[in-house]
Amino acid sequence: MFEKIVIANRGEIALRIQRACREMGIRTVAVHSEADRSLKHVLLADESVCIGPAPSAQSYLNVPAVISAAEVTDAQAIHPGYGFLSENADFAEQVETSGFVFIGPRPETIRTMGDKVAAIEAMKSAGVPCVPGSDGPLSDRPEEIQQIAKRIGYPVIIKAAAGGGGRGMRVVHTEAKLLDAVSLTRSEARNAFGSDTLYMEKYLENPRHIEIQVLADSHGNAVYLGERDCSMQRRHQKVLEEAPAPGLTEEQRRFIGERCAQACREMGYRGAGTFEFLYENGEFYFIEMNTRLQVEHPVTEMITGIDLVREQIRIAAGEPLSCTQEEIVLRGHAIECRINAEDPETFMPSPGTVSAFHAPGGLGVRIDSHVYSGYTVPPYYDSMIGKLITFGPNRESALARMRTALDEMVVEGIKTNIPLQQDLCRDPAFIAGGTNIHYLEKKLGL
Ligand code: ADP
Repeated sequence: MFEKIVIANRGEIALRIQRACREMGIRTVAVHSEADRSLKHVLLADESVCIGPAPSAQSYLNVPAVISAAEVTDAQAIHPGYGFLSENADFAEQVETSGFVFIGPRPETIRTMGDKVAAIEAMKSAGVPCVPGSDGPLSDRPEEIQQIAKRIGYPVIIKAAAGGGGRGMRVVHTEAKLLDAVSLTRSEARNAFGSDTLYMEKYLENPRHIEIQVLADSHGNAVYLGERDCSMQRRHQKVLEEAPAPGLTEEQRRFIGERCAQACREMGYRGAGTFEFLYENGEFYFIEMNTRLQVEHPVTEMITGIDLVREQIRIAAGEPLSCTQEEIVLRGHAIECRINAEDPETFMPSPGTVSAFHAPGGLGVRIDSHVYSGYTVPPYYDSMIGKLITFGPNRESALARMRTALDEMVVEGIKTNIPLQQDLCRDPAFIAGGTNIHYLEKKLGL
């Protein structure tokens, strides 16, 4: 097992990784920007290294600086968390060529999954159901593009193969708008992602977002840990997540879960990963794979009792999975509310000093947050300041605990989205379960 790990991230996830390391007896190195000297995990770390000024491009995304921090502290492995360098195949490769272990999949896997056309190809050959689409990149020939759209049936969505973060996509409802949409998306993709490869999919009108968590080791074992429903979104950003997905049957779970685990075996996948699907009329349609830990991983941990970060570290150290598929039993229900430093109505970020912070507690309440009274939320990074997670024997209980916990939580000095989450947890349609990806925006009148 590793003796020392560099945590190449910030905020709640850096603290989450540090806690797992502590439990495992592994020392931690916190790398941070000049703006992040007072982050909770930096103050608690065994060692810390300042890797650059506040802007991420000069610190958290600075590959040589992160690798140097591992060199000067004599660490053996680097955990990238989520965001930042976590899905950067070149970084993963450089970590390994510099003699360190990257806690994540092999660089080639990250590269394949980062190209959505290649990812869909890999999924299809592994028997994972995908959205009906262009089966490969779109050509330049207008008649061919029109033919593909006709075969798929309108509405269709044009997507950039290298796209991410909800950018580089365009929905087309009629043939008259098709070719213009393709050329517009092509030039946007070229500018934003440096690649103008596009593909086309059937646009599903009212899907839910359901994703499958997997773990795979370097000995050919792969398991699925059930699903998460992340349909509550605004601008493709998840706001609230839960596990299991309301209404999904054991049979559906096994069907899709087994296909994901099998795909991992066929790809030689290593580490934790998430297969994202749109789910409509009882069918799953693969959209993309995330080759890293997800923000919403705690809901899976709560219903399986498995520490996903610990598993990631064990897998990276070459150990086999600590559980078999039969040993993974889903119990109860968990909900996660993302707590953001933002105006609950305008969604404008609200950085500043937290003058008072009181965390809720009680049976089935978990809070993953780096915030403390007196902490200043810097303006440079993501506005998420923590996650409130509740667990109960069933959905009703997890929801009741979430309402109580949200009402108990105090964050003063900055604005947060707690009022929005309180409202959502009392929303009749959400309480009934199974709302689709457009529900929140419609509710907000967007
Ligand atoms: P990104 O990598 O940018 O997040 P995704 O491929 O995961 O892109 O898609 C992001 C979101 O866009 C989905 O969660 C969904 O809301 C919407 N979307 C993507 N593909 C489709 C589709 N075929 N039909 C309907 N909505 C889609």
